[in-house]
Amino acid sequence: MANNRRIVIVGGGFGGLFTALDLAGAGEVTLISNEDHFLFTPMLYEYLSGEVEEWHIAPNQKELLDESVNFIHGEVAGINLEAHTVSLKTRVAPLAYDVLVLGVGGVSNYAGVEGAEEYSIPFRKIADADRLRLRMVDALDSVPPDLPPQDTQRALTFAVVGAGASGVELATKMADLLRDAFKRRALRGEPRVLVIEMGDQVVPGMGDEIRELVEDALLKSHVEVHTLTRVVRVGEKTLTFEHDRRQTEIETAAVAWTGGVRVSPLIESLQVEKTTRGLIVVKPTLQLSAHENVFALGDIAHFSDASPTLAGTAQLALQQAGLLAKNIKALLDGDELQTKHFAELGEAVSLGTERAAVLAGGKVFGGALARQARFALYTSRLPTWHHRLRVGASWFFEGTTPRPLLPLGARR
Ligand SMILES: Cc1cc2nc3c(=O)[nH]c(=O)nc-3n(C[C@H](O)[C@H](O)[C@H](O)COP(=O)(O)OP(=O)(O)OC[C@H]3O[C@@H](n4cnc5c(N)ncnc54)[C@H](O)[C@@H]3O)c2cc1C
Repeated sequence: MANNRRIVIVGGGFGGLFTALDLAGAGEVTLISNEDHFLFTPMLYEYLSGEVEEWHIAPNQKELLDESVNFIHGEVAGINLEAHTVSLKTRVAPLAYDVLVLGVGGVSNYAGVEGAEEYSIPFRKIADADRLRLRMVDALDSVPPDLPPQDTQRALTFAVVGAGASGVELATKMADLLRDAFKRRALRGEPRVLVIEMGDQVVPGMGDEIRELVEDALLKSHVEVHTLTRVVRVGEKTLTFEHDRRQTEIETAAVAWTGGVRVSPLIESLQVEKTTRGLIVVKPTLQLSAHENVFALGDIAHFSDASPTLAGTAQLALQQAGLLAKNIKALLDGDELQTKHFAELGEAVSLGTERAAVLAGGKVFGGALARQARFALYTSRLPTWHHRLRVGASWFFEGTTPRPLLPLGARR
């Protein structure tokens, strides 16, 4: 194998990091990412609730990578496919590559909704979860215990935009945390958590059995579901939505945005073959059609031979990373590149702090057992054996109890 070939991987998420882990030693591998850590996004809800800690789901890249992989913490601002270089915001000289892997993922899609980008809180990163948690604590702290129930509820109204898996996972988690805080702080009445969804049902794209469990959990967590409802405007402390052509404006302590994803701006600026949604069209080998030394995977790539339910999922990016690493080795060795069909590995949806729903081996189950199964399943999907063992031991011996929303100043 040509060990001096420069393999540059852009993006340290599910696609990029797992490719780098598989490629260690296969050439001069450089991983560039604008965050210094990997993020296991499926458990960002548990990070919000304090069921898991930052080090569990967001380990530093350098802790995970083999010494042979060079990690650059920086943002790629441009790619020159003709000159075979990538340029970073923080470096003058561009970086040359022999093989390039694009795995920069997506960004929140605010779909042009007025005020959404400015006032709502996205839910994609550790910093977003920190911001949302702080907003919940601030709102709780602002309410005196003797405030009448209706005023308390008005001050503690939170909205989540989008009722896909992300929206329902977030809303149930927030509702459970807030209700727990009500008890601890002896507040009067109940918090209000709404989910706003344009479509006619929650978790579109998931099976009916799992949807039933999701609907039941939304009910148990007292989440108000508004389907066939469109968000029209987000203000600093308000949300306006439209249902049946009637607009309603409510006061909100925070609006969390899980309303959609679009490809990273870096990919938007790249002149290559794309779908109408802006995804890079890749060959079955994950190569770009006009550039055989450039590969793309994960949320930015359109790969045709995968179950439709896998679009935009970590499961797909993770599976593609294995194929991609093999194909880069084959390309460097002059061997034939392979392809693979990617199938659904199952679903695991967190539903509040006590329940989950899991689809595994064709069977759906819910409740507290599903919550445990989800932790076990996700331990096995974390990067590297070493990290899996550390995290698994921590969850097993130290537990995964949520961290309450205590007053600011108290230990939170
Ligand atoms: C809250 C949440 C929960 C989710 N839950 C699930 C789930 O339960 N199951 C599931 O299958 N999927 C889930 N997903 C989707 C899953 O996270 C994505 O499909 C997956 O991360 C895609 O992998 P990727 O490698 O394409 O991109 P990502 O994992 O997003 O990685 C992209 C990386 O590129 C970096 N980057 C971006 N732009 C640049 C740049 N210009 N220069 C350098 N670096 C850059 C980013 O910082 C990031 O590290 C969830 C997503 C979110 C946000």
